Amino acid sequence: MLFSTLRYRLIDLARGTRSLSLLQQLRRQQYDTPAALREAGAARLAGYFRELQQAVPLFADARRFEDLPVLDKRFINAHRDALLNPLYRGKKVRKKTGGSTGEPLVYYSSSEAQSYLWAGLFLAWEVAGYRLGDKVAFLAGSSLFGTGYKQRLYYKLLNVEIFSAFDMSPQRMEEYGASLDAGGHRLLYGYASAVHRLARHYLDQGRQLRSGLRGVVCTAEMLSASMRADIEAAFGVPCYSQYGCNDAGVSAFECEQRNGFHLLSPRCHVEVLAGGRLIATDVSNRAMFLPRYDTGDLVRMSGRQCSCGRGLPLIDEVVGRQNDVVVDPAGAAVHSEFFTHLFREDARIHSFQVVFDEQALVVNLHGAELGAEARSALSEPYRQRIAQSLQFPRIEFVFNQDFLTQSNGKHRFVLRRPA
Ligand SMILES: [Zn+2]
Repeated sequence: MLFSTLRYRLIDLARGTRSLSLLQQLRRQQYDTPAALREAGAARLAGYFRELQQAVPLFADARRFEDLPVLDKRFINAHRDALLNPLYRGKKVRKKTGGSTGEPLVYYSSSEAQSYLWAGLFLAWEVAGYRLGDKVAFLAGSSLFGTGYKQRLYYKLLNVEIFSAFDMSPQRMEEYGASLDAGGHRLLYGYASAVHRLARHYLDQGRQLRSGLRGVVCTAEMLSASMRADIEAAFGVPCYSQYGCNDAGVSAFECEQRNGFHLLSPRCHVEVLAGGRLIATDVSNRAMFLPRYDTGDLVRMSGRQCSCGRGLPLIDEVVGRQNDVVVDPAGAAVHSEFFTHLFREDARIHSFQVVFDEQALVVNLHGAELGAEARSALSEPYRQRIAQSLQFPRIEFVFNQDFLTQSNGKHRFVLRRPA
């Protein structure tokens, strides 16, 4: 235990974060009364707004926090420099989100926000039986884990082993299962669709994994009751859901009751607008001000008091998510971020949309220089890569055609073709 704590101190030291002390604080604070948490939250928000008024001339007209406009990605990308805090002296962490609505977002986060991110994750994991130092398996795409050298070192120190959710071929799933059987992992953490697919792979053959897991935590996507039941049957341990929107500072987790998500309110101030639109302000991020940020997600807040005794507010249900999955006719699914990551480093591609049904997967690429000769040379490697993960009768590429929009008018990177 001493050694494992030391590991985290080293990571905190290297990253300039304080996740460990914050975790200790949050373990207590989560049981504060709702009134005490609200009072502390109001004080933090007032401090945040004062600092914002001093630092951001853009919002000079706002007399109260509520006067600030609701920000979306387009606004933030257009006013990035004006939203940076010149008074902030700490370490700035550059972040880029793919997301599946609107444009990618580039923003800056603070070490304090990074500390909250990790402490919030540990808190969610602890419900599922995780203890600091335990070996964890990550089944996810690279948005959950960075791919750089430093990131890999952190994950080694964190005792995290990464399984790619973008490669879920039957052989690869056998390897993941064998590794879980032998590897001494105590927690499996990953995209709900990927964890579920791994579970189905074993259940369909009438097999159960003999892992040393204590629990499973799913994230990034909706976890349905039947998915949860499958996962619990395959792994033989309880499965929990976690919900986060890191650019907005939102981090929420299921407790032992598994009846709603406890919102980590010390990190962010949330508002729920008409229709359930979740608007959040990461008060722990003072590197760049992103007040009243539209998460694009729809939630239903609960007025209930949870019987677990935690005073953190409860989200009854996350109704809609930005992140969608593409499902092929055989039921294989990949997260929309598979495509975001596939295309985002290709300068020729400015934006894209993937539309699918039982017959075909159609990739619509937008870019100025996509001439006729360039097109087949460009699309063929992508077609092959997609075919490794998804089996559709046809995979087609089209260029610069109008995007399909949904009734809410938002651009979605992946979309099931309307019937
Ligand atoms: Zn609870």
